[in-house]
Amino acid sequence: MMKVLLHKVLLPLPVFCLLAAPALAQDPGTLDKKPLPPLEHPDAPTTPAKELFGRETGSAPLAARSIGGYAKGCLAGAVALPINGVAWQVMRLSRNRNWGHPNLIAFLERFAEKAKKVGWNGLLVGDLSQPRGGPMLTGHASHQVGLDADIWLTPMPDRTLSNQEREFMSAVQMVADNRLDVDPKVWTHTRTQLIRTAAEDPSVERIFVNAAIKKALCREAGSDRGWLAKVRPWWGHDYHFHVRIFCPADSPTCEPQPPPGAEDGCGHELDQWFTEAKLHPPPPTEAGKPRSTMTLASLPPECRRVLMAK
Ligand SMILES: [Zn+2]
Repeated sequence: MMKVLLHKVLLPLPVFCLLAAPALAQDPGTLDKKPLPPLEHPDAPTTPAKELFGRETGSAPLAARSIGGYAKGCLAGAVALPINGVAWQVMRLSRNRNWGHPNLIAFLERFAEKAKKVGWNGLLVGDLSQPRGGPMLTGHASHQVGLDADIWLTPMPDRTLSNQEREFMSAVQMVADNRLDVDPKVWTHTRTQLIRTAAEDPSVERIFVNAAIKKALCREAGSDRGWLAKVRPWWGHDYHFHVRIFCPADSPTCEPQPPPGAEDGCGHELDQWFTEAKLHPPPPTEAGKPRSTMTLASLPPECRRVLMAK
């Protein structure tokens, strides 16, 4: 518990705000998960959608479909990533967030094998989506449509992790204390190769990393730099990287992102992330209103069916 509190205290407040709530990659889970109490008025129009989707424990038995936007949608026909694979293990099982569109599961299986070939022992997989996607009670604005995956920048050990380790083992911080670059004591070129391998997969639309990590990728990329355009800086993401895949062909109401452009993003755009304003943005009270709470009515209409499907 103390560790969670420390994380809250040590994180700069605005970063914390942008991430909404804890349940970051490095935050511990629990071996004693209690079901959430039923809602008194689940049908009330003011009930936050996260309270509804956060109580679902299994996927909607419908054809697979990613519905809506990465940060405002839901997921039908989700598939669970098996907790142990040929070259991956799922972390923080208590969160029950190892669900995705079948395309995401297929990507992870493919990526885990390719990663081994560049010297990465295996993937430690963090959050994908909830069983029916949707907003979450803790962490992540996105990860709502089963197309986002957090992957630790800590390699998988050569053994099957215990449940205890999966809940409490911490990912390794990659960013130096001054936030201006990666920590040379822990960063390795294999991590660049790992992220590059993900970025080169044709199903990948974006990858989010801390700006300090993007700086390292820019420095280490060499002459073949096309893949860097997909890798964008974002706050947080200093223990893991976040892979987002394209809207699947079977999902006509999935909302894609605009293409990233051809630039590698290593010049002026990256420099901006190291300005005082980006490194230490003003506290949320000055920065504006907090993110509003989504209700079921604010999600695409199909999400009601996803929630009700039995
Ligand atoms: Zn993420």
